[in-house]
Amino acid sequence: MTGRVYLSAPDIGPLEERYLLDAVRSGWVAPLGPSVDAFEREMAERVGVAHAVALSSGTAALHLALLGLGVGPGDVVVVPTLTFAATANAVVYTGAEPVFVDCDPATGNLDAALLADTLVALRSEGRRVGAVVPVDLFGRCADYAAILPLCAEYGVPVVEDAAEALGATYRGAAAGSFGRAAVLSFNGNKIMTTSGGGMLLSDDAELAAHARYLATQARQPVVHYEHTDIGYNYRLSNLLAALGRAQLARLDEMIERRRGLRDRYAKLFAGVDGVSVLGDEDDGGNCWLTVIVVDPATAGWCAGELSAHLSERDIETRPVWKPMHLQPVFAGARSVLTGAAARLFETGLTLPSGSALDEQQIGRVCDAIAEFVGNGQ
Ligand SMILES: *Cc1c(COP(=O)(O)O)cnc(C)c1O
Repeated sequence: MTGRVYLSAPDIGPLEERYLLDAVRSGWVAPLGPSVDAFEREMAERVGVAHAVALSSGTAALHLALLGLGVGPGDVVVVPTLTFAATANAVVYTGAEPVFVDCDPATGNLDAALLADTLVALRSEGRRVGAVVPVDLFGRCADYAAILPLCAEYGVPVVEDAAEALGATYRGAAAGSFGRAAVLSFNGNKIMTTSGGGMLLSDDAELAAHARYLATQARQPVVHYEHTDIGYNYRLSNLLAALGRAQLARLDEMIERRRGLRDRYAKLFAGVDGVSVLGDEDDGGNCWLTVIVVDPATAGWCAGELSAHLSERDIETRPVWKPMHLQPVFAGARSVLTGAAARLFETGLTLPSGSALDEQQIGRVCDAIAEFVGNGQ
């Protein structure tokens, strides 16, 4: 019974130590350096895209992707309401206005039919839609077979928010390869981490080069400091890129551990009425976080009660993302809703899913869950 069990703690071992120490000893401590170049090359190859720009966060990558598409004041950008705030915040940074669209209740991902209705409505009002930003929620790709042709029909570029989905696949293609540009996050709780960082991926050389330029304070290529645009300080440091290279080398192994956890939770809840695990073996997801959905009428208890039971045993769980249309900061925003995201927020719970959890910790979590559901509430 020692130590708190976290939802998704960093998984750092000897390989990360060695890469980081090598980077320190190489003298490339100053912002950029060979580890950044190598990390970008290796990630582009892994995902199967032509260009990768390592950045200080996934949020920065979203911001630069939208700027690269010319999104700005007067535009609207369609964002799923069920996401982390960063997706919507990046839209606001550009001066554009987010329009929130509800989710498919079975996956939590953007409801493609509702997206179609939204694009029809926005066109009839003469609004310019700067981009659609589908999110690969909890590591499972959005419905690109429906979303990409739809957006193409309306001439709206897609930015894939794959912050949670590195390593996932969809119909044979990797998460991060959809749309005009895609975004990864290496925040501390993601499937792999650089302690903080992100990446912009694109097959569009010009878009990638422009992002690189803006991320480096929009410095002109001359010896003195010459600026013709407002820039940002958004690049990833060489030390953190070294950490990222080690994590990327271990990515498949870390995904396997998370997948194993989801399988164990699925078995644990298999005989429990009113509880389902979001996603399954064939969904191509990376199992970033295991989410259960609890129907209180059938189960006889609600997600919050299980959460409280686990919390008393020093085990961290969290509700799924609180939808953007329910956030005070976005209270006035336009939303196209079915109620699916709000329901998932009420009935969903994310369980400890980190690849660094050891057998003893996993046993503690499973025992505590078995104790709770076994008590017949
Ligand atoms: C984590 C996350 C981000 C932001 O990434 P940071 O690296 O933390 O800036 C963006 N979108 C989604 C869906 C995320 O989960």
